[in-house]
Amino acid sequence: MPDAPSRPVFRFAPSPNGPLHLGHALSALINESRAAEIGGRLLLRIEDIDPARCRPEFETALKADLDWLGFAYERPVRRQSEHLDAYDRAFSTLQSAGLVYPAFLSRGEIKARVAQVESAGASWPRDPDGAPLYPGPERDWNSAQRAAALATGRQHAWRLDMAKAVTAVGIALAWSESGEGPGGQTGEIVAAPEAWGDVILSRPDAPSSYHLSVVVDDALQGVSHVVRGRDLFHATSVHRLLQVLLGLPVPLYHHHRLLLDAHGRKLSKSQGDTGLTAWRLSGRSAAELRRFLLG
Ligand code: GLU
Repeated sequence: MPDAPSRPVFRFAPSPNGPLHLGHALSALINESRAAEIGGRLLLRIEDIDPARCRPEFETALKADLDWLGFAYERPVRRQSEHLDAYDRAFSTLQSAGLVYPAFLSRGEIKARVAQVESAGASWPRDPDGAPLYPGPERDWNSAQRAAALATGRQHAWRLDMAKAVTAVGIALAWSESGEGPGGQTGEIVAAPEAWGDVILSRPDAPSSYHLSVVVDDALQGVSHVVRGRDLFHATSVHRLLQVLLGLPVPLYHHHRLLLDAHGRKLSKSQGDTGLTAWRLSGRSAAELRRFLLG
């Protein structure tokens, strides 16, 4: 008998670095409804690779919120902090391909360099989130210079050499978008990873980066449909690049609308009043919240 066709796989992937807000609930519910439409499976992934910001009590609280909401996810739950070896292997693949370099500038040093250029009237390129691109003085060091710098034991991050990575891939990258980007982009989207410059792959205080762990996990968990907020639309360009470099499959993408506050800003975890727990404790039901969010 032929194997039964595998079911589509969706995931909701919050970071436990604060209480969930209504925007997270919206994301979980859109995942749920799109999965239900096509008989998909629903996973929860805890993205806790940043030890300075993630805390177990936030994870406990977010699970309580999701249970209350009636968001039924499969067990076991994948927790990224338990899979650092998988991200390490992916990192080694990129390193062996000569696509990464140790980067020694601190945040303050980057800021100072950018300020110096900008105060002289020139502009400094910024990524789609508005952060300055890494100046990358180390990018062109030869192996002896690199070894000497590493031997000093100075703290450093590891960055992707974006120009080299894009050249190594050598083909235009694209993804299939069934939602919408911030500018209304939908359908076949051409990826522009170079807009991000030399992204971080690991830092002294966080063993793997969001970009690296998310593509590794989506592949390892067989995620076929990535449904997430529009704020991550442009990050998909980096994800497509890493997928090709690491030989990983490409999910379909759906970036959904964001909930905005009264000032038109995207909700953030520090806003207790738009929190899921606050809604729950105010005595309003999960059914009311579902109606409020999905209409
Ligand atoms: N962990 C990310 C967040 O909480 C979401 C990652 C993703 O869905 O790709 O914003």
